[in-house]
Amino acid sequence: MKFSVHTKGFTDIVDISSQVRSAVASTGVAQGVAHVFVQGSTAALSTIEFEPGALRDLKDALERIAPMDARYHHNEAWGDGNGFAHLRAALMKPSLSVPIDGGQLQLGTWQQVILLDFDNRSRKRLVYVEVTPSA
Ligand code: ZN
Repeated sequence: MKFSVHTKGFTDIVDISSQVRSAVASTGVAQGVAHVFVQGSTAALSTIEFEPGALRDLKDALERIAPMDARYHHNEAWGDGNGFAHLRAALMKPSLSVPIDGGQLQLGTWQQVILLDFDNRSRKRLVYVEVTPSA
């Protein structure tokens, strides 16, 4: 199944744990794995403790790794100014897998699933959740 998320761009970080939980619950699978994937080359998925300090630390780290105002070959080729967004997305990856046990997503107490949108404009993102039952 899939769901969409509206984002603001510029490393907007959205907690999508509840949507992923609902998707998993709708399958009725008790044991297995949930594969989560965001479509697009300027967005990514990860997990984090969803609190303002950790979110700011992650944004600061990404700004050091791939600064918005640095020179990017992508910008010279396409002129869309989002070279930093493609680089951040590639480094953070577009997907993750979470085990399901007892019908529950096995996230840690302080571990939320996040969608990161790095693009330099607001976007509507499509997130796919595929559940594979254990054999
Ligand atoms: Zn681009």
